[in-house]
Amino acid sequence: MDYQPHSDEIASLLTGVAGLPGALAGLPGFAEVDAALVGQVLEEAGKFVAERIAPLNREGDEIGARYEAGQVTMPPGFREAYQAFWQAGWPALSAREEDGGQGLPAVLECVLYEWLSAANHGWTMAPGLLHGAYECLKHHGSDALKERYLGKIATGEWLATMCLTEPHAGSDLGLARTRAVPQPDGSYLLEGTKIFISGGEHDLSDNIVHLVLARLPDAPPGPKGLSLFLVPKFMPDGSRSRAHCERIEEKMGLHGSPTCVMRFDEATGWIVGEPGRGLNAMFVMMNSARLHVALQGIGLLDAAWQKADAYARERRQMRAPGPRRGSEAADLIIEHPAVRRILDTQRAWVDGARVLAYRTGIELDVARSHSDAEARQRAERWCSFITPVLKAACTDQAFHGASECLQVFGGHGYVREWGIEQIVRDSRVAMIYEGTNEIQAIDLLVRKVLPDGGAGFTTFLGDLDTADEEVAGRFAALTRSAVALATGAQSQADLPYWVAGDFLRATALALLAWAWERIGSSPGFHTSRWLDPEHALISWVMPEFDMRLALIDAAIERSSARFTARSID
Ligand SMILES: Cc1cc2nc3c(=O)[nH]c(=O)nc-3n(C[C@H](O)[C@H](O)[C@H](O)COP(=O)(O)OP(=O)(O)OC[C@H]3O[C@@H](n4cnc5c(N)ncnc54)[C@H](O)[C@@H]3O)c2cc1C
Repeated sequence: MDYQPHSDEIASLLTGVAGLPGALAGLPGFAEVDAALVGQVLEEAGKFVAERIAPLNREGDEIGARYEAGQVTMPPGFREAYQAFWQAGWPALSAREEDGGQGLPAVLECVLYEWLSAANHGWTMAPGLLHGAYECLKHHGSDALKERYLGKIATGEWLATMCLTEPHAGSDLGLARTRAVPQPDGSYLLEGTKIFISGGEHDLSDNIVHLVLARLPDAPPGPKGLSLFLVPKFMPDGSRSRAHCERIEEKMGLHGSPTCVMRFDEATGWIVGEPGRGLNAMFVMMNSARLHVALQGIGLLDAAWQKADAYARERRQMRAPGPRRGSEAADLIIEHPAVRRILDTQRAWVDGARVLAYRTGIELDVARSHSDAEARQRAERWCSFITPVLKAACTDQAFHGASECLQVFGGHGYVREWGIEQIVRDSRVAMIYEGTNEIQAIDLLVRKVLPDGGAGFTTFLGDLDTADEEVAGRFAALTRSAVALATGAQSQADLPYWVAGDFLRATALALLAWAWERIGSSPGFHTSRWLDPEHALISWVMPEFDMRLALIDAAIERSSARFTARSID
């Protein structure tokens, strides 16, 4: 069963819960965005995903991308689908009109990429980096670079890569060694090896634009010595550049996406932004990519749920507790509480996380172009706190939830026939790339929450209206925990690092409950397709919140006991 996007359901979530189009009122360029336009775009997007992208998923996994003599051949149908994708204008959905884009709200692009990832994660890896590359070049590229590359990237005619990782420099990009030597004509020659580069080589588009972190000869060591460069696969005169794919990785999943070792062998490139400010320029791309990875998680979890839900409505085994239903010898497995619990739990995550991710899509536009400085600041605060939370929580849940959905199939889930095992394999990597989930947790707690003693985080939670006492109570408990950690860190500096993952997870759960409060108070949103996710949220999901805070409290207590003991000694 291929993934089915439900455009009516998402349209009602966007307009009934997330507040479109009102939430974008007053932003320049969106005057014509109304519920009808949102519905129309989603319907067309849903059709494209279901008809062109979802059917390629299985072969993408089984045949995979193939490497031979520096060239990568993508699985059958991938190139044709990509050509149809960009020619129909999908990559340009939210790019500015002056760059060849359609100028539509970012949140519509969020929905599109969630569906594409759900339908075919491997194929979606290639266009998934386009919007980030577009924003990066738009904000940091020279006029000459923009003239040559911005339009091609905005429309998706040429695909882009993000070349950061090196064999000895993964989470710690400051260790990167790739060198860039300035040339008299203003260009640079890049020398070094990058690994794990998604879409470093393929036959989907006629050119590939690599954005590469490298070090100038006089650069200081560490992250401040990194600059960003643009290196095309084909040079402006049509000749092949000296950026080569040496091989592609054999992976656990995601076989439709070539993960490339790229060798830059005195490859010509041009600087993007200022020398030594490469990570700063790259962060524009990485933040966009992190939200996309969160959306991958949501999409893949929905895909796993769709398969498991359909199977549970067909498969009969044993008698469910309660009165006998019908004359069949056994009940549908969806009647068994253990199976329902699995299904409803994933549903609670998918819908709650959608509210949060779509709201982030809306806040991106508010942060970018609202006329009121305070509104822009509030939106920036939302994006800053929620991006690491969504990236880590949605991808953790995608993998663990997909594994639970596999359980619904029993042994039939472990064999290939039903396709659920592919989702488990494909989803695992999202916990690793775009900054591992451990790095996201540190980003949230150590870099964003603690430096001001939790004040900004408290303001962020205060921005979220709630009429629900339990939700308000959880926000207050999170704030107390942040303050206690800030105090505890004064005597034990590594304390927050031990519990950053718990803090992120607790934050995600509190926000999930807030999102469901929104769903509950929006009668326009139809939830009739499934069972009772709200009940699952309260019974099976939220108790983890208290458990996570208890783990943090215990760590703080141990730390203060140790500190007291040391002081007495
Ligand atoms: C399929 C795939 C596609 C990818 N695509 C791209 C791409 O397009 N471009 C690109 O540049 N890279 C890409 N990557 C690389 C990816 O971003 C890195 O794998 C990731 O950043 C982690 O780096 P690493 O693998 O070297 O792990 P390491 O950094 O060595 O980390 C190993 C472990 O240590 C933990 N760790 C490290 N530092 C800390 C810390 N300070 N605190 C707590 N824990 C820590 C990590 O969380 C992890 O669990 C891709 C990787 C894969 C597998």
